[in-house]
Amino acid sequence: MRVFVAGVATEVNTFSPIFIGLENFKATMYARPGEHDDRPTLTSSPLIHARRRAAAGEFELVEGTITWTDPGGLINRSTYETIRDEILGQLRAAMPVDGVALCLHGAMVAQGYDDPEGDLIARVREIVGPKAIIAGGLDPHSHLTAKRVANADILVAFKEFPHTDFVERGAEVVDLMVRTMRGEIRPRMSVFDCRMIDVFPTSRQPMRSFVDKMFAIERDDPKVLSLSLIHGFMAGDVPELGTRMLVITDGDAGYGERLAETLGREVFAMRGKSMPELVSPEVAIARARAVGRGPVVIADFWDNPGGGVAGDATVILRALIDAKVPNAALATIWDPIAVGHCMVAGEGAVVPLRFGAKSAPNCGEPLDAVVTVRRLVRDAHQTFGTMRVAMGDCAVIEVGGIEVILNCLRSQAFERTVFTAVGIDPLAKDVLVVKSTNHFHADFAKFASEIIYCQAGRPYPSDPPNNGYRKARQTIWPIVENPFAQ
Ligand SMILES: [Zn+2]
Repeated sequence: MRVFVAGVATEVNTFSPIFIGLENFKATMYARPGEHDDRPTLTSSPLIHARRRAAAGEFELVEGTITWTDPGGLINRSTYETIRDEILGQLRAAMPVDGVALCLHGAMVAQGYDDPEGDLIARVREIVGPKAIIAGGLDPHSHLTAKRVANADILVAFKEFPHTDFVERGAEVVDLMVRTMRGEIRPRMSVFDCRMIDVFPTSRQPMRSFVDKMFAIERDDPKVLSLSLIHGFMAGDVPELGTRMLVITDGDAGYGERLAETLGREVFAMRGKSMPELVSPEVAIARARAVGRGPVVIADFWDNPGGGVAGDATVILRALIDAKVPNAALATIWDPIAVGHCMVAGEGAVVPLRFGAKSAPNCGEPLDAVVTVRRLVRDAHQTFGTMRVAMGDCAVIEVGGIEVILNCLRSQAFERTVFTAVGIDPLAKDVLVVKSTNHFHADFAKFASEIIYCQAGRPYPSDPPNNGYRKARQTIWPIVENPFAQ
């Protein structure tokens, strides 16, 4: 048996001004056949599992290109087509194959393509024919279009948000593909459209219990091969935006449809209840002070580069400076120009600097201050589980007693290594500000004295009724109160 593995992945916030081109993929992760190292990343973990199983003699593996870049705005059309055609050319050369595992994210949008993954999967199907098995790994912050479901056999999304289970889900993609190729199972995908869009951290109730229930059903119900809740991605203005429940049964689509509806209606009943309380910067600072012992973690919930925004908002920093909060640190503000100035000035320099809030509206104003350049680090990296996340060249500046990390590659704050990578001890700080919606929670919850979720400015389209969608359906909650009555 022969298996082909390849992938192209990012998450597109169609409202973001940060366009994505080939240079972005090349700067983040662009592994041609055989070039990917042995550390699984969020989207490439199926490759690592396929390599292990091929090495054990289960099949012959043909590697294609696997690429990923950090979330941003629309993908340049020729960039998507170039990467897609590179992968399809590799697949044609690899034929005949019995299985294809695609390392996807599922929220790409390119100029002229509302559903690039659907386009890619359909073209793969054309090449491999009806009998080969097509499996794909997805991020739950994606769009589960009918075209993808029609052309793939197996799609599996991370269950956890933070996505701490990406290695396990990659193993599941490969395992289900291999068992299907051997004729041991007959996967049938059934989907229920929950007709809603929301944000679902699984580190808190009610989603924690729902995820545990999905794991229990997978373990106990012999008809069920895999369950995935596609959360949806509200910043991607595409026709099929929304939350969907995906059930894969062993040959029983009717059973799958009933189970998908039962679970999907449970998710609909949780609408509006899954998000944490979001407070203003002023309230967040007052609460942090009241805790009295550090480190208190304040999450800049919406200015998360992991959701495609610039990640250069200054709203919380301005409030910290105005409130004279000492012994705080902030990760990160994206500002390659300011980093360049600091690199030239050198460590220890005291310089007048304009930084932050340069890329998009509703992110505060650029800050003008005399800052001290505390530390300069070339090509810094943080971690997220087994994954190494590039931050680019970084400058740590001190302004008003607050240490601020300026970076050149946009990346959300995943783990405490975002601070330690540039010489800041997060445990010694009273207040830590992180630009992240919830991925930070997996590590920071281990040592934070308190976690406060903060809404600052409006860098992200977080209010579906007022986002100004042009393509997304208007018949989903919370745009309408009861979409099932429509
Ligand atoms: Zn995600």
